Amino acid sequence: MTNDQTSPPPAAEPSAPALTLTEKASLTSGAGDFVTTALPQAGVPAVTLSDGPHGLRLPKEAGDGGQVDLHSAAPATCYPPAVALGSSWDPELAHRVAGALADEATAHGIRVLLGPGINIKRSPLCGRNFEYFSEDPLLTAELGGAMVRGLQESGVGAALKHYAANNQETDRMRVSADIDERPLREIYLRAFERIVRRDRPWSVMSSYNAVNGVTLSENTRLLTGILRGEWGFDGIVMSDWGAVRDRVAALRAGLDLQMPGTQGRTDREVVAAVTDGSLDEAVLDTAVERLVRFARRTADADRPEPRMSVDDHHRLAGEAADRCVVLLKNDDGLLPLSPAAGSVAVIGELARTPRYQGAGSSQVTPTRLDTPLEALRAQSDGARVDFAPGYTLPGAEAAGTGSADAPEDDAALAAAAVRLAAASDTVVLFLGLSAHDESEGFDRDHIDLPDTQLRLLDSIVAANPRVAVVLSNGGVVRTDPWHRTVPAVVEGWLLGQAGGGALARVLFGEVNPSGKLAETVPLRLEDSPSHLSFPGEEGHVRYGEGVFVGYRGYDAAAREVAFPFGHGLSYTTFAYSGLRVTPEADGARYAVAVTVANTGPRAGREVVQIYSTGSAGSSVARPPRELRGFASVTLAPGESREVVVHVFRDDLAHYSEREGGRRVEGGDHGIEAGSSSRDIRLSAVLPVEGDPSRLTLSGRNTVAEWLAHPVGGPLLMKAFAEGRAAAGGGPSAMENPAIRRFLAGTPLDVIAEFPQSPVRPEEVVALAEQAAAVSGAQER
Ligand code: BGC
Repeated sequence: MTNDQTSPPPAAEPSAPALTLTEKASLTSGAGDFVTTALPQAGVPAVTLSDGPHGLRLPKEAGDGGQVDLHSAAPATCYPPAVALGSSWDPELAHRVAGALADEATAHGIRVLLGPGINIKRSPLCGRNFEYFSEDPLLTAELGGAMVRGLQESGVGAALKHYAANNQETDRMRVSADIDERPLREIYLRAFERIVRRDRPWSVMSSYNAVNGVTLSENTRLLTGILRGEWGFDGIVMSDWGAVRDRVAALRAGLDLQMPGTQGRTDREVVAAVTDGSLDEAVLDTAVERLVRFARRTADADRPEPRMSVDDHHRLAGEAADRCVVLLKNDDGLLPLSPAAGSVAVIGELARTPRYQGAGSSQVTPTRLDTPLEALRAQSDGARVDFAPGYTLPGAEAAGTGSADAPEDDAALAAAAVRLAAASDTVVLFLGLSAHDESEGFDRDHIDLPDTQLRLLDSIVAANPRVAVVLSNGGVVRTDPWHRTVPAVVEGWLLGQAGGGALARVLFGEVNPSGKLAETVPLRLEDSPSHLSFPGEEGHVRYGEGVFVGYRGYDAAAREVAFPFGHGLSYTTFAYSGLRVTPEADGARYAVAVTVANTGPRAGREVVQIYSTGSAGSSVARPPRELRGFASVTLAPGESREVVVHVFRDDLAHYSEREGGRRVEGGDHGIEAGSSSRDIRLSAVLPVEGDPSRLTLSGRNTVAEWLAHPVGGPLLMKAFAEGRAAAGGGPSAMENPAIRRFLAGTPLDVIAEFPQSPVRPEEVVALAEQAAAVSGAQER
């Protein structure tokens, strides 16, 4: 895994062609829905864009001005959406999928794919969670970054979206995400930061929402200060579709491209603002330079001859789906199914009419579609496979899947399914959400499966307890309490057009499942850390849980969960041994080595997860554990191998608002190796030398803060000792534990006013000056 954090210097600016004011303004908005403005006379080509992120939403005919009809896009391969790819924990796979997406893009003249979407899953309710990878920023960055590289290495630009803190659909075009600086930096900006610095996307899409009251398209701090100033971003920022309120303010803030275009209306506003002097023309020139470079970069990129083959890409979509399936539970080895175990009842409309992607701007018209039912029949190797739909699926047509039968009465369907279950040896029951339950544009208000399905499940289990439930859902669903009553549960998410085959391969054991949850499955919605402040009200959503997002929050509150972050079973078992943590020569990374052995009967792949536990006595509240790296290893039965995961020292840092930056605290940090966030197999202590404090001490700092300061601490101790000696010695009040704690939390200038204080107010001022001088000299 490479997660180098350093940024190469920005590419040299190409000289901007001489353009009129009107031409310049026209470049900063789209020419159509999905195409930028061309100025052929100045050598600036148009850039064609397409959603994204797991397949191309192609204009019906290439070259039709980029107008896209949502319901009649031309066919393209529908790969597993991010919710599924997230569970693969496989950046190499994401890279290959992105390469294939680039191939298809090139074959259709598309130069930029509008993705990947890397927002953090703050709440299980977000209607767009299917388009995002994880509740964890590092996992998100590794998968999203691999996609950016996969696209751009094949000459197709990525548009990293939606920047930033677009974590809900409710009121998404107006809501202000009110976030403290620490969670903003550590959770919501972290994946953007990593990918921008390391993978250098050619474009970033700014989101609809506001952060701390400032709408993203006018957010100078986020678009210019942080994205460009701190991270060195050298691409363009385009708006999400329709996100710009004030075009001139947006340009000023650092938004280069308004999408889609407004038939010249807002271009005229830009021209007027430059003409009347309210917009500095240099601001427009900067955006134009970036846009020209972007247009040339996309036109001139090295693009391999597209190897687009519908069959090959369908196969890749299937291979990817194989890695995304998560085996949540498998008591008594119910799975894999074997022909020797007798007949199989496949129950559930979702087996025949699969849901394989989410609804909204990412919806793809697939080139073909595998259904689990047909694939199971083909895979069954002679075992009898019968089918009963069990329930109707609302919205199947809207998802482009079209149920074969006319709607029937659910009660009659359920009764027939129960009869089939009773007459079969094993039941594979497909349950899940319909296209009406979750989509871009709205959030869910609960995480339950539909009532009809839950009733059916109860009756099926009563008729035949040998049930494997297979789930199809874009957002997490509640599995409690029913998961306790069935021996096997398979999380199939939305697996793309070839997911049906993948499910059949996993269920019959041709593929040994190796997916791991990229998000927690809670026992109840109410347990989720953001529950009390989602989705906010009156235009604001307060991110009250701070950094305690997803497993960070469940762990901190010691809450039981149904299935933890990182969980996923295999048909084999793995043993861990020999954890070693070695600092690397450059001081920037640690090599964390662990030996994994396949102790079971089948070949299988294990994803080794490395967490850190923060230093004891941290000055900030730290989650009990945080993912710092991962790697996967595929092993034959009996085989063992050492896996090395690189953990960046900087990832051990927290963001200190007071110090205005990231800071690694000195002390003993814990390093853990686990098969999930709640199945930690080994742990080690890592002594870490901390970063110097950037805190400028004053009398307003507490004694504890002074003592924790590498320069101020010794100075204060010395001053205390001298003060006590001058007063005739005697025991230090600090020797009494209760007084020590009391004093530790008191600002030094308050203590200095106490009659018995060993330091006087004027000495405090001198000490602060001395500490600042010594710290300054050390930094130099
Ligand atoms: C979505 C984006 C998408 C854009 C263009 C917006 O509504 O939020 O993700 O890329 O439309 O279709």
